[in-house]
Amino acid sequence: MSKKLLLKDANVEGIRHFEVYRKRGGYEALEKALKMTAEEILEEVKISGLRGRGGAGFPTGLKWSFLAKPEGVPRHLVVNADESEPGTFKDRYLMEFIPHLLIEGMLISSFCLGSNTSYIYIRGEYTWITDILEEAIEEARKEGFLGKNILGTGFDCEIYVQRGAGAYICGEETALLESLEGKRGNPRLKPPFPAVKGLWERPTVVNNVESIAAVVPIINITGEEYAKIGVGKSTGTKLISACGNINKPGVYEIDMTITVEEFIYSDEYCGGIPNGKRLKACIPGGSSVPILPANLLLKTINGEPRYMNYESLADGGFATGTMMGSGGFEVLDEDQCIVEHTMTLARFYAHESCGQCTPCREGTPWMYRILKKIEKGEGTLEDIDLLWDIQRKIEGNTICPLGDAAAWPVAAAIRHFRDEFEWHVKNPELSQTQNYGLANY
Ligand code: NAD
Ligand code: SF4
Repeated sequence: MSKKLLLKDANVEGIRHFEVYRKRGGYEALEKALKMTAEEILEEVKISGLRGRGGAGFPTGLKWSFLAKPEGVPRHLVVNADESEPGTFKDRYLMEFIPHLLIEGMLISSFCLGSNTSYIYIRGEYTWITDILEEAIEEARKEGFLGKNILGTGFDCEIYVQRGAGAYICGEETALLESLEGKRGNPRLKPPFPAVKGLWERPTVVNNVESIAAVVPIINITGEEYAKIGVGKSTGTKLISACGNINKPGVYEIDMTITVEEFIYSDEYCGGIPNGKRLKACIPGGSSVPILPANLLLKTINGEPRYMNYESLADGGFATGTMMGSGGFEVLDEDQCIVEHTMTLARFYAHESCGQCTPCREGTPWMYRILKKIEKGEGTLEDIDLLWDIQRKIEGNTICPLGDAAAWPVAAAIRHFRDEFEWHVKNPELSQTQNYGLANY
């Protein structure tokens, strides 16, 4: 059984409220942190090996150490709660059930980073969670844990919750900052990174909800103990939102030492695939990461079991591996059509492109149109090659990662399931009514 650090009290009645959270040891990490120096807290986070839980996996301690500290210029912490990656709903769970964990993590992180005004930028559709967070903020304020002179230490910190307006692109950190400033959410060119020029051109750390919540157990148990959980550079625990063709969809906390097979089939997690169907493929890290067929999902090409961690999932690069991403784990059984699934994702990215870069603005709808044609049985073999060509011209040629995120699913689908694309082309009369099936996988 995986160790629980974040969700250990998720089922405790009333944990959403300050009183119960406090009785379960809540805010003890903040009390401990306020007796430490900012450098000591940073050191703990670095030692913990915590990697950004939003998707990129960038080392959190390193990001914090990049924060510029010009004299007299305010600094900010911004929590990215704009969770919009298809298949990803772990931050929603954390904020909905244990809002004080995020607030406590933010207060510790703000103290370490020197931010007296911190923000939660939350996905617009999470209206009820905005209310939950605002209530929790008020509870913490009443108890002297937030606002002016926190616990008599002289540290002031305000937290504001700002709702987005339904644009996926505002989850990209610089688009998020633009939106927070009241402008259209267009991504900025990087560098400069937000750590140097962020919100209102001030040094800003942007971190995912889960990353900031993880700071609480890191301070509680120490960075060294946190780093002992997991394996290699995949330290600590990771929240996974599991969905698709599984018996037990939901949010699970894993310690990154379990295999993909265990995660899909064990009763502790997904509980297997309904109706005895066979596993066809899986997208383990949210829609932006490459899809993998069953054979490469359960084992690497070296015959090693595939583990639920950053390194093992990426083993083989994009040729035979994928990414941990945001932990949005989607399972597809033998009945699912890869062409249709890829088309649905392509439609999503085409709709969400902000339109600043030509390869993304023009390429994403073009890919969608071709996929739609193939799916309807009206495509040609040349269309498959054209699709491959378009995704290659998008990847790496855009301002923000949305371009790559749109290209990778198409590339991986063609790479691993080309036979299925060809089947649609060669069997136009069947492609609307039948499934290609599991042949060849
Ligand atoms: P990134 O690799 O560009 O950056 C990672 C982080 O490190 C950023 O905060 C960046 O500012 C910082 N950073 C990197 N180099 C730095 C440097 N030299 N100095 C200072 N800071 C530096 O990736 P990203 O754009 O943050 O995230 C992309 C990922 O987001 C994708 O892989 C995808 O999985 C994920 N994603 C998640 C969701 C979701 O809902 N959770 C939605 C869309 C995408
Ligand atoms: Fe906008 Fe797409 Fe360019 Fe990102 S890659 S800045 S979403 S056009």
